[in-house]
Amino acid sequence: MSSSPDAQSPGIDDLIIDVLRHRVGKDERAAKSHDWYTAAVLSLRDKVIDRWMESTRRTYAQGDKRVYYLSLEFLIGRLLRDALNNLSLTKDMSSALKRYGLDLAVLEELEPDAALGNGGLGRLAACFMESLASLDIPAYGYGIRYVNGMFRQRIDDGWQVELPETWLSHGNPWEFDRRESAYRIGFGGEVVEAGGGVMWQPAEVIEASAIDTPVVGWRGKRVNTLRLWTAHALDPIKLDAFNAGDHVGALENEARADSLVRVLYPADSSAAGQELRLRQEYFFSSASIQDIVRRHVQYEKDVMTLPDKVAIQLNDTHPAVSVAELMRLLVDHHGLEFDSAWDVTKRTVGYTNHTLLPEALESWPLPLFERLLPRHMQIIYAINSRVLRDARKAGLDDAAIAAISLIDEGGDRRVRMANLAFSGAHSVNGVAALHTDLMKVTVFKDLHALYPERINNKTNGVTPRRWLMQCNPGLTSVIRDAIGDAFLDDTGKLEDLNKLAADRELGERIAEVKRSNKLALAEHLTELSGIRLDPDALFDVHIKRIHEYKRQLLNLVETVALYDQIRSHPEKDWVPRVKIFGGKAAPSYHNAKLIIKLANDIARRVNLDPSVGGLLKVVFVPNYNVTLAERIIPASDLSEQISTAGMEASGTGNMKFALNGALTIGTLDGANIEIKDRVGDENIFIFGLTADEVAAKREEAYNPREIIEGSRELSQAMQAIAKGVFSPDDPTRYAGLMNGIYDHDWFMVAADFDSYTDTQRAVDKLWIDQAAWREKAIRNIANVGWFSSDRTISEYAKDIWGVM
Ligand SMILES: *Cc1c(COP(=O)(O)O)cnc(C)c1O
Repeated sequence: MSSSPDAQSPGIDDLIIDVLRHRVGKDERAAKSHDWYTAAVLSLRDKVIDRWMESTRRTYAQGDKRVYYLSLEFLIGRLLRDALNNLSLTKDMSSALKRYGLDLAVLEELEPDAALGNGGLGRLAACFMESLASLDIPAYGYGIRYVNGMFRQRIDDGWQVELPETWLSHGNPWEFDRRESAYRIGFGGEVVEAGGGVMWQPAEVIEASAIDTPVVGWRGKRVNTLRLWTAHALDPIKLDAFNAGDHVGALENEARADSLVRVLYPADSSAAGQELRLRQEYFFSSASIQDIVRRHVQYEKDVMTLPDKVAIQLNDTHPAVSVAELMRLLVDHHGLEFDSAWDVTKRTVGYTNHTLLPEALESWPLPLFERLLPRHMQIIYAINSRVLRDARKAGLDDAAIAAISLIDEGGDRRVRMANLAFSGAHSVNGVAALHTDLMKVTVFKDLHALYPERINNKTNGVTPRRWLMQCNPGLTSVIRDAIGDAFLDDTGKLEDLNKLAADRELGERIAEVKRSNKLALAEHLTELSGIRLDPDALFDVHIKRIHEYKRQLLNLVETVALYDQIRSHPEKDWVPRVKIFGGKAAPSYHNAKLIIKLANDIARRVNLDPSVGGLLKVVFVPNYNVTLAERIIPASDLSEQISTAGMEASGTGNMKFALNGALTIGTLDGANIEIKDRVGDENIFIFGLTADEVAAKREEAYNPREIIEGSRELSQAMQAIAKGVFSPDDPTRYAGLMNGIYDHDWFMVAADFDSYTDTQRAVDKLWIDQAAWREKAIRNIANVGWFSSDRTISEYAKDIWGVM
């Protein structure tokens, strides 16, 4: 590629030694592994920078519309392998390092996992950033650079313990500190009359400054920017206080600013915790919106053209206050009339909804909101009066109008962020077909009746670079040999595998890759926890956030039932299984933490029981994150996607597993439905109630106790857990957890149990016929190319952002 920007620049091998000496400051004889890691990243970053600048110049020169993706989470994981792969420099780097006796794979392990997210929503943002660059769309991601991320999970005696994530302790060679890109973020104070209009005079001001990380697209086509905000005090040290001897108090302002960017989702059980979260949301929204408007006005001069050059996407409601912030800038600082500002705002903003769970819909106590953001409160009232006027004009009844209002008037008054985001956006999308349909009849029923054009669906996707090429090079190479290279640029081409689905040789090659991935995972888990696993057993994997709706408990109760069965019928030819669990529980979520303990209690008992003869092993892998997912998914045979139907908006884990040739056992929920439609009913294990049936059961008098008592396997398993068979040190530990199922069973564990176990035995049966299993695995790989985030982003680009 003679036109590439690095055609004349030095190769990685020359660069790396120069960088090690002059930027890391180490001689090659004195350099430690970490110095080499830093030198490798900085050398690669030099290659990236040339393309980064070229991309930016091109965007300015062409006057292209830009996409801004605002997200409180970016779960990006490691970047070294990603950037090497996308620039086709993996071989060059590997051989450059070899010259100095170093192994790239070993250095890769030194990179901390950038865990600036919680789960699927944050990982989606990271996949989207990569696809935006790969599709050559000019884009910025905006978020917060958390010094301590969410938390690192340690398992102590089976219990989750939360420790601070310290991913920055050795510095971060990927990032650029842009102290010159700084904005003032206000809090509190009052709104005063000024020159015919009004102006907000905040009582407190914190400075947001940008820290940029380059995001390299596939084949280096474009490099975009992930701009994460950090916070500083305007007045970092009160010198008079310091000199007077109050050395700590003098630094209070900086500590206060710092607390904004410390952790993702600080506990909100206290009023101070709630306030901190709202401050974080406003801090990053305001900095981002100020940056966007500044860039636009600088080059286009006219704020009225904002919607032609700028598309802002709100990833869930965390950045919803951006709607009011953009209005404030347009009205108070750029002198627009309220109604034309409202029109500009709506045409610029899009909103993605990620959950229907009522407890997850954000709202803020009105007194808190008003105290912290008095001007935004006024703007929200003004927006609300327009929305309610529309509703009355449309003839909606009082109940509908109360549901549409941006203010929840029931009990203590609250500001509803989802209603603000919906009102302020021209597009409101769900993340899978079922979820989008349910949005229209549940949370947004009335807003949808008022603005019927707004809701649309964009089924999630995952980037095939990270979730196939990088995490599973063995499988990638087998696929290349079978169907050529075209799928590397268009995952739709994976469909060419369909004609080879029954090909024995291909089936065997894919099975060999799977076995070697399983062996590698088994060795890793032995290192982590001492457990030994048989790579020929069926690896049955349930990794995701721990939540009752994701039903780890259903899987665990089934595990206990299977354990019982194996012990009482040792003569049957049981399929050897390894049940792998992983995931973090929210620190304040009692039942989720208890479920982690239960998984570990079951593991301890089952794994030590000689009477199961190694037929069943249970593992809980601590600190589930992107890097672990990249290790575990390519080594999985069975993917557990068993949420209570109607509760998982989409899921993206389900897509990653299928792409790596695991078969899915799952409910008709989220994107599972679309996966089933694409891979075919005979290539997926579907069980359980549908979303409609779940809703109906919750309406009628569902009696879980009756169901439990009618199922011997289920009642025995639940009794065993409830009576302390797995917790002899504390026999009643799980009594409450089990009683919850007996008494109300909101998540339908009992209702779905029999159907789930039957389906698990069907899985066993298929496993015995390895040729048939392999054919189905190939059909999965072949038909899930559609779940590439390139496809998702193309749809956003065409339908929402108008950039393609
Ligand atoms: C993909 C991914 C998720 C989302 O998984 P779901 O099964 O869709 O909930 C969460 N965490 C990590 C680290 C992931 O890679």
